[in-house]
Amino acid sequence: MILALPGREVARLLKPIEPAAEELVALPYSSAVTVSLAYASRVALPPGFGFLVPRRENRRTLACTFVHRKFPGRAPEGKALLRCFLGGMRDPKAVCLSDDELVAIVLGELKEILGLNEQPIFTRVFRWPEALPQYTIGHRKRAQRILDRLSPERGIFLAGNTYSGIGISDCIRSGREAARQATRAISSSSNAPPV
Ligand SMILES: Cc1cc2nc3c(=O)[nH]c(=O)nc-3n(C[C@H](O)[C@H](O)[C@H](O)COP(=O)(O)OP(=O)(O)OC[C@H]3O[C@@H](n4cnc5c(N)ncnc54)[C@H](O)[C@@H]3O)c2cc1C
Repeated sequence: MILALPGREVARLLKPIEPAAEELVALPYSSAVTVSLAYASRVALPPGFGFLVPRRENRRTLACTFVHRKFPGRAPEGKALLRCFLGGMRDPKAVCLSDDELVAIVLGELKEILGLNEQPIFTRVFRWPEALPQYTIGHRKRAQRILDRLSPERGIFLAGNTYSGIGISDCIRSGREAARQATRAISSSSNAPPV
């Protein structure tokens, strides 16, 4: 069985059989919010694919991607799509704000940062509460200990952003590794692995 769940769900499910998994409960998570702004025309923007906002700027917008420039086909010809990120460990309450409040914040900050005065033709807000694990000191060893204790003896394999990297490529690597281990465990035993 491969569990590709957030760490605290893994801890909850495995508590009766593997107390070491309980350590995952302590892993802090940050939340993220994205606010997408669609414009009827290619608004005036600086060169590049977007920008990051340094902490000393004291703004709630953490970053902004010029989506129509970064990837082909993300906005119709002649239109613009910007995606702003908020939240993170420094602003956990951002995820609780209303859509209207979030849109007002990013529009106000984009006006100051980019001089952008145009109004978007539509906006979309997406929230990811407690989605990004914030690895603490010793995480790698703790995670490896749990992975080692569960697989292959128990027939339970873990994958996802809880263990060895939060990027999509890290998660794919972790999923492939879990699948490889599970396949190996199945082929080395004619019986179902004991739990
Ligand atoms: C806003 C944002 C932007 C990002 N941008 C990038 C980027 O540009 N590049 C990059 O590399 N990474 C990016 N990341 C990080 C990356 O997307 C994530 O770390 C990765 O997608 C996590 O994958 P996962 O499978 O571990 O978790 P998830 O995709 O969260 O999957 C966990 C699944 O478990 C399910 N689940 C939870 N509890 C239970 C339960 N009890 N029973 C059954 N199912 C359950 C959930 O519904 C969910 O489907 C971004 C993340 C966010 C939030």
